[in-house]
Amino acid sequence: MRSTVNLILMGPPGAGKGTQATRLCAELKVPKISTGEILRENVRDSTKLGHAAQGHMDAGQLVPDHLIVEMAMERLDRPDTHSGFVLDGFPRTTIQAQSLADRLGEQGRAVSGALLIEVSDATIVERVAGRRVCAQCGHSYHVDYDPPRNPNRCDDDDALLIQRDDDKAEVIRRRLTVYHEQTSPLISYYGERNLLHRVDGTLSPSQVYRQIETRLAALPS
Ligand code: AMP
Repeated sequence: MRSTVNLILMGPPGAGKGTQATRLCAELKVPKISTGEILRENVRDSTKLGHAAQGHMDAGQLVPDHLIVEMAMERLDRPDTHSGFVLDGFPRTTIQAQSLADRLGEQGRAVSGALLIEVSDATIVERVAGRRVCAQCGHSYHVDYDPPRNPNRCDDDDALLIQRDDDKAEVIRRRLTVYHEQTSPLISYYGERNLLHRVDGTLSPSQVYRQIETRLAALPS
């Protein structure tokens, strides 16, 4: 597999972006940049950004572009991203995608590819209802498909597993609507730039990962 990539993982909430991004980053030895995780940290730490973001997140809506773009750019300016990165959950709007392309372009960098993990809405609703995350480290489980060894406890640090507020059934439906309205235009955005690579997200995590490896091997170096 290539050792340097500037990669975007796209797909609806619950498609498995976080799981795949974690594995990919460990393999490629590049940082994973998850805007959702950075936002949740800010909410936990009660920062100004956390306060500004929380209402939007709880409602299943996107956090305004200017806040997200500033936050993501600050992260991408750090030197550890210069040998590659995997973006999980960013960009989510055309404005964000354009800002990303502009900033990377100014720095002589570019997006290598956007991997779209495709899963139907019905499957997402079923999956997300069973998702539990570690309140401490963020490790994600599924009550049926990927249960922890001890009920409700994280395998890694034994902390309590919780259901994210925005994973509740009614909020997930809203997040899917937001995805179709605001994020799916990025499919054509990256498609037109020959950067889009589709992956079948209904398969097992290992099978999805194998498809990702195949797509990465085919990227121009
Ligand atoms: P995630 O963990 O990626 O599903 O993100 C959780 C929530 O954080 C989303 O439902 C949004 O409210 C917010 N969020 C994360 N990334 C973005 C983004 N790129 N643009 C706008 N809002 C975002």
